[in-house]
Amino acid sequence: MKIALVGIGKIARDQHIPAVAASPDWELAAAVSRHGAVDGVETFADLATMLAARPDIPVVSLCLPPVPRFAYAAAALAAGRHVMLEKPPGATLSECHALTAMARARGLSLFATWHSREAAQVAPAKAWLAGKAIRRVTVNWKEDVRRWHPGQDWIWQPGGLGVFDPGINALSILTEILPDPVHLTRARLAFPANRQTPIAADLAFVHPGGADVSAVFDWRQEGDQTWTIDIATDEGALLLADGGARLSIDGAEQPVAAAEGAPLGGEYPRLYARMAALVASGGIDMDLAPMTLVADAFTLGERIVTDPFHD
Ligand code: NAP
Repeated sequence: MKIALVGIGKIARDQHIPAVAASPDWELAAAVSRHGAVDGVETFADLATMLAARPDIPVVSLCLPPVPRFAYAAAALAAGRHVMLEKPPGATLSECHALTAMARARGLSLFATWHSREAAQVAPAKAWLAGKAIRRVTVNWKEDVRRWHPGQDWIWQPGGLGVFDPGINALSILTEILPDPVHLTRARLAFPANRQTPIAADLAFVHPGGADVSAVFDWRQEGDQTWTIDIATDEGALLLADGGARLSIDGAEQPVAAAEGAPLGGEYPRLYARMAALVASGGIDMDLAPMTLVADAFTLGERIVTDPFHD
């Protein structure tokens, strides 16, 4: 199936272009980029021109930051194209609901991708937790923003999410693997004095079984980087590390199944395989649970002003 990629930035180059190239399902038929080009692929400077010129391309994958994404997704759906969305699927929940309604009304597929859910050990973690009583959950997502987001201004603008840009990945895993849903009860957000989005967040959740569930996201961590989810249950302890790439049960590292390939390298190939299946079945997958928790953190969050941040 032919597909067009829109927004040729970091994630498009790191993951989408190689995943599409390696996939038996997809042919990269066009790109839309205001600044760049993809070698060997017809590139358009704007989406409207591509949609008009290439009615043969039924699927559009949007690799833009969250704020411009709604207008692009709405235009693609209005032009009768199936749409795949980078995470988070929009800047607001209302936008995402509007897109879902548009897709449903037109019989088109729409996919809110959560790449971290596709990390190699997430499905085994979910399987191990099924049926167990959760006692405590501790999420630590601590990384160096200068290392991972150099010069990315949009993450500091309204709608850019700040530390929730990586933090929502942790929440996408959490909402996938926990047997019962949690909701937010307290948030403390640290905003640099010169920025519009938080650099750190401290979250507490209500669990229906009374488990103690908390998360710390911090973009000021230098040296070793931490992406862990620790879960104590009535039948032992689970640790997901490296963003879902590694799993330990009661301290024993669990092997990655050979079929999974590289522990994180399989994330985008699996997303594109899922998109192919959705288009084939006319399905919509717009799970907004991670984004709901983030929206609640902004609604409920106590705001602390901290040191100015300079790149
Ligand atoms: P990026 O490189 O800063 O931007 C992606 C591209 O989007 C830009 O190169 C630009 O493409 C287009 N763009 C930027 N601002 C725009 C605007 N205002 N209007 C229209 N187009 C605009 O960002 P990224 O790191 O790839 O992240 C994009 C999305 O992927 C985010 O939602 C992020 O959370 C998600 N993501 C990123 C990573 C990562 O490692 N970076 C990992 C997973 C998911 P053109 O110049 O081609 O027009």
